[in-house]
Amino acid sequence: MLLDYQKKLTAVAVVATCVAGMLIAPCEASARVNSRQSTIAVDGSQFLIQIKDGDLNVSSEEVKTYVRDAARAVVAYYGKFPVQKTIVAIAPTNDDGVGFATSTHEDAGGYGLIEIDIGAYANRGDLETSWTLTHEMMHLAFPILTRRHRWLAEGIATYIEPIGRMRIGKVSREEVWGDLADNLQKGLPSSGDAGGLNSARGYGRIYWGGALYCLVADVQIRKRTNNRRGLEQALRAIANEGGTAASDWSTQKTLRVGDAAIRAQVLENLFDEMADAPKTVDIRQLLRELGVRRQGRATIFDDQAPLAHIRKSIEGLAI
Ligand SMILES: [Zn+2]
Repeated sequence: MLLDYQKKLTAVAVVATCVAGMLIAPCEASARVNSRQSTIAVDGSQFLIQIKDGDLNVSSEEVKTYVRDAARAVVAYYGKFPVQKTIVAIAPTNDDGVGFATSTHEDAGGYGLIEIDIGAYANRGDLETSWTLTHEMMHLAFPILTRRHRWLAEGIATYIEPIGRMRIGKVSREEVWGDLADNLQKGLPSSGDAGGLNSARGYGRIYWGGALYCLVADVQIRKRTNNRRGLEQALRAIANEGGTAASDWSTQKTLRVGDAAIRAQVLENLFDEMADAPKTVDIRQLLRELGVRRQGRATIFDDQAPLAHIRKSIEGLAI
């Protein structure tokens, strides 16, 4: 399966022309294109929404709401949106639901670029429940790493997207922890697997292996800091110090900045453990300590569990 983000070296000419002016004037394009373009602002960041040729069942207002909610979820995790300008280019497809998407940063133009397929038959409910755009926007807050380390970037986006959406009320705590309980196993090395996540192949090991790194790191950081800091503080520091998709930061530098922010060498050490060796994690035990248990399709929480306070801090909900 294709990974969903990349560093694009070629400029998108039409888009590049438009983005420079998107703060002050509509783009100079054909009337047909103009009617399919709009801009919104979220927390001081600008979003140019472009709907390419093709029919959509959803209205442009519903598309705007989809973009706005995804950006709000990023702000709910990071405290702000990581880049000033982003283009969201929507390609209608002969399908239903939200389809494949990619994110990148156009360095020459100075804007994030997300390209996303939306089916002609997708309805408002499909957009409401879609995590895809939030996932892509989360990528803009982290450097675009070398291909070997993409598991780290994909894992971060996979892990924090539902947390952001939970904080704006789009998914429940039960769904967030239930998904982790159901899927983290996919990130474990298989028997006979001699390599670590750097040599991972396949969606499950890359995305959920990276997400497992994030959960383990989050818990370790919170244990080490008496629950005063977590992965969130490390990721915010990375973005705040310039380590966004606009940067050319190395993985080593990125993790070092994150660890400096939490004053503990957790991200670097765990990376060394998981990148090149088939490290296994007792996921069931970890979730039990956090007070998470699956009972059929239901997720049950135990607030008396030893790490229940850490689970609540990860959620970041005012309850
Ligand atoms: Zn991704």
